[in-house]
Amino acid sequence: MADQPTKYLLAEKDIPTTWYNIQADLPQPLPAVLHPGTQQPIGPADLAPLFPMGLIEQEVSTKRDIDIPGEVIDIYRLWRPSPLYRAHRLEKALGTPARIYYNYEGSSPSGSHKSNTSVPQAYYNKVEGVKRITTETGAGQWGSALAMACQFFGIDCKVFMVKVSYEQKPYRKAMMEMFGAQVSASPSNETECGRAILAKDPKCNGSLGIAISEAVELAVQDPNTKYALGSVLNHVLMHQTIVGIETMQKFKLAGDWPDIIVACTGGGSNFAGIAFPFIGSKLRGESKEARVIAVEPAACPSLTKGKLTYDFGDTGHLTPLVKMHTLGSTFIPPGIHAGGLRYHGMGPLVSHLVHLGEVEPVAVPQLEIFQAAVQFARAEGIIPAPEPSHALAIAIREALKCKEEGKSRAILFNLCGHGHFDMQAYTDYFAGKLRDYEYPAEEVAMALAGLPNVAA
Ligand SMILES: *Cc1c(COP(=O)(O)O)cnc(C)c1O
Repeated sequence: MADQPTKYLLAEKDIPTTWYNIQADLPQPLPAVLHPGTQQPIGPADLAPLFPMGLIEQEVSTKRDIDIPGEVIDIYRLWRPSPLYRAHRLEKALGTPARIYYNYEGSSPSGSHKSNTSVPQAYYNKVEGVKRITTETGAGQWGSALAMACQFFGIDCKVFMVKVSYEQKPYRKAMMEMFGAQVSASPSNETECGRAILAKDPKCNGSLGIAISEAVELAVQDPNTKYALGSVLNHVLMHQTIVGIETMQKFKLAGDWPDIIVACTGGGSNFAGIAFPFIGSKLRGESKEARVIAVEPAACPSLTKGKLTYDFGDTGHLTPLVKMHTLGSTFIPPGIHAGGLRYHGMGPLVSHLVHLGEVEPVAVPQLEIFQAAVQFARAEGIIPAPEPSHALAIAIREALKCKEEGKSRAILFNLCGHGHFDMQAYTDYFAGKLRDYEYPAEEVAMALAGLPNVAA
């Protein structure tokens, strides 16, 4: 073991200078995004009230390599390149012949991969003179990352935080305020959409779908305000590909290549980040085939139990219609602790790749992921967030399969954030308060019954 490194590190000069746009290599193009009124494909002008043109162009681009602006790279230097670890101690604890690797994004200032996209998003808004950005946040990782990026570029930041997380994770709110953001629990009484939901259900726990509606509502009302989303959209997933591009370089240093790539999926951004560059290289016939696995919670199973169809991105139906795996935009998930994985939909690119058979989806129950997180922390010393612990649980399942079969496969998972703000979840787990919860088929059917009627 001692003759094999534990960390594979690149130098600052190796930070990639382009993001990878998988739209250039898709065997079938993405289905169009539709206007909710006319059900016709939307154009850039339809998105202009929400996003700066620089990001809208990236959203629809089919160019393979997109230049990363120098000002963005200079900020990336604060935490990039990120380390790739070989999990020698976890392998030993499992007694597996598998070679387990994890890419660690928890060393970014906000503690997750989200800063990889918050910085370019704030940058393109700054270039176009935007004064304020509104957003939603679930577990608070995205809100923290955007608050930091807005602070760097002198933009005001307004965050609607899903109420159940606002109450579970007060330190995330404090962190956003540290970076100068204004934070409200959602549903709030600051928007029409929030007030309508509170009138029906004053105790509503909130959801990402509701918080998105609140943030979008404020953005469309003010020409100096735009909206930012931390996942799901094509440009967001593309910004994260810096992770996979670096990871490929780190695997070259290791003289190895993954047989299995695993990441958790909330809206699909950390998954896309690590997996898309590998999938693209396979689609172009440049590297060997790897199994790519997307892991979601059994309590919010959009890929494994949802439907691939046109749906709204938000509960208030202010967004365009996108074709994605969805549980229905009225879906309010149970208050599971992986707050970053509670979105009703899934990134259209990830949905499309599942549909094309390039990605295998799997759902895992909550207790297995906490068990995996504890085992990992005790072996490797890093406390993972509950979200990437979904990927970890599957990496462990695959490593144990290697043990059974006496095979040594290289398993890569994306450790996309640390769990330092999730200690209440771990406290609840140790107190035996957490339960497995599988979203009942009847409720999935009910939420899906409310899907919009789209002819396409
Ligand atoms: C936001 C977040 C997620 C879920 O979002 P994706 O876009 O699917 O990556 C998962 N893990 C962490 C640590 C997050 O911050």
